[in-house]
Amino acid sequence: MDAKIRLYVEHPLGAEQSVPLDRGQAHYLFGVMRQTVGAQVLLFNGQSGEWRATVAEAGKRGGTLICEEETKPLQMPPDLWLCFAPIKKARTDFIVEKAAEMGAARIVPLQTEFTNSGRIQRDRLQAHAVEAAEQCGGTYVPQVAEMARFDRVMSEWDTARRIMFCDEALAAAGSPPLTGQQGPWAIFIGPEGGFSAREREKLRGMDHAVSVSLGPRILRADTAAVAAMTLWQQALGDWS
Ligand code: SAM
Repeated sequence: MDAKIRLYVEHPLGAEQSVPLDRGQAHYLFGVMRQTVGAQVLLFNGQSGEWRATVAEAGKRGGTLICEEETKPLQMPPDLWLCFAPIKKARTDFIVEKAAEMGAARIVPLQTEFTNSGRIQRDRLQAHAVEAAEQCGGTYVPQVAEMARFDRVMSEWDTARRIMFCDEALAAAGSPPLTGQQGPWAIFIGPEGGFSAREREKLRGMDHAVSVSLGPRILRADTAAVAAMTLWQQALGDWS
């Protein structure tokens, strides 16, 4: 019987490995998805690929699964970070979910001058990234970093990591197609109020940053994140 349910677990996986479930996972598997002993589930932990496992114990407060066979090797995404200024909660959730589905390796919430949401709930965003990986068949879950101030991120930037700076000021002028060498990259997306002139100058002044237009219309930050990831993945990532 083909296992359909995929579950992310923070536990080693391997042949005959017993994997305990926490209360939340037990509630989801046995309460919501009505699975019982003997059912088969696909497990992944972001490091050891995907394993088919069988439910050995099922209870309200927990359970145990036994790994049987590796069904998919670990597939790492390209070394791409999505650095974005959080916007309203639901739309920030959307950005994190799409970044996980579309192959970001790390997600960095940025506090820029015009960012209007002062704080994020990192654990909640991380749970969205996990859920997106469970749904899209990914075997890797991007880490959602703590919110960091733009200036600090810039001061600590490793110049080996190139930046795709999505600059709304280029909307009218456009920009050449994205090219460059593969390797560590980051996409920068500003908040609803855009990047400040100072931030824009900082990014434009970096040798390892490429300023990119996302077309002639001004996109919402969540739309821009998806558009930018599509452009990057097609040009330099694992979609081509
Ligand atoms: N307040 C800004 C304005 O009116 O120009 C709009 C900011 S936009 C809502 C949020 C972010 O999405 C921008 O900072 C930029 O990173 C990205 N973005 C949106 N449209 C873009 C475009 N046409 N070209 C490049 N980046 C774009």
